Amino acid sequence: MDGPQVKALAHRLSVAVWGHRVDRVDVPVDRWQANVLLKHCAGHRVLRIYSHGCWLIWNFEHGVSWLCYPVRRWSWEILKAGGTFIREPMAWVAGATTVAARSRGRPLIRSRLDDGREIVLSGRPLFLTLLTPELWRHPHLADIGPDPLADELSMADWRFRLRLSEKSTIARALLDQRVMAGIANPWKCEILHAAGVHPATRAIALNSGQIQQLAVAAQACLTKAYRHYLGDEQPGRLCAVYDRAGEPCPTCGTAITVDRSGRDGHWTWYCPKCQRADGEALLFDDW
Ligand SMILES: [Zn+2]
Repeated sequence: MDGPQVKALAHRLSVAVWGHRVDRVDVPVDRWQANVLLKHCAGHRVLRIYSHGCWLIWNFEHGVSWLCYPVRRWSWEILKAGGTFIREPMAWVAGATTVAARSRGRPLIRSRLDDGREIVLSGRPLFLTLLTPELWRHPHLADIGPDPLADELSMADWRFRLRLSEKSTIARALLDQRVMAGIANPWKCEILHAAGVHPATRAIALNSGQIQQLAVAAQACLTKAYRHYLGDEQPGRLCAVYDRAGEPCPTCGTAITVDRSGRDGHWTWYCPKCQRADGEALLFDDW
């Protein structure tokens, strides 16, 4: 699950639920410790559903919010009154680069709306019920970085965030949620390729031109991913380098290569010609 995917989910849920009142909240007693705050959302309208990085956030009118994070597989479904699906694509599950309809798992929370429809969350996400004014003070969110899809980020913001990272290379820094929220491994590879930055470049050694290119590439790649998850047709292939080892780079034709970012790091696919290592790059063993 990545930021663009959760943002697309938030958009679809928002369109379906916005302005409606949640009349009832059901929680299986054998699976979930019923939470007083959670149950008290019954009878209140949903003001806003949005995302920040991989967090899905529901704001209710009475100052309470739901926060959900897809630690493991989850699915959200909207059921017509009577329990039948509105249509198949109304279910979303975590996947590498797809948002696919899947059969329902065991429901975790069933919320019935004032028009009889039900929103069903299944799976095993992290789920918190918090007072809205205290939301961003919660330890899970207090240190999270800005979401490039939600926040207007300047060059200075990018430089500042990259300096915050304790990760030595840009490939690892981009996945650090305290630096930027919502960038998953496929989009990390795509952003670095679009910016022409070698994945082993030291994060704090990027020059102004490289930071500018990264900022532009992040906006473009994440927006493209978001539109893909919304179901918009995208010209060309979705991923230029991710999971394409040995295939020709779409820019220069050189074979795409793959390396692991450090001993416990993620694989990074990149073009050795478009993303040349400069003098500041680290040896791969030192990532
Ligand atoms: Zn290339």
